[in-house]
Amino acid sequence: MTNSPDSNRTACPVCKQPVEATDLTQDKNFPFCSHRCKMVDLGKWFDGQYRFTNDLNEENE
Ligand SMILES: [Zn+2]
Repeated sequence: MTNSPDSNRTACPVCKQPVEATDLTQDKNFPFCSHRCKMVDLGKWFDGQYRFTNDLNEENE
């Protein structure tokens, strides 16, 4: 985090894309830019417990 004028913006922890915090705070994916990035981050947490075998691959464009 830096003291930039765009304090209402943050970066997606996964892909580093800028995310508008203002509206996305209402978004279930916040602070991630997308559901996919959220799942990627969750996958890191769950990796030691069980493997994600959902449709992540199918969302890989
Ligand atoms: Zn992202």
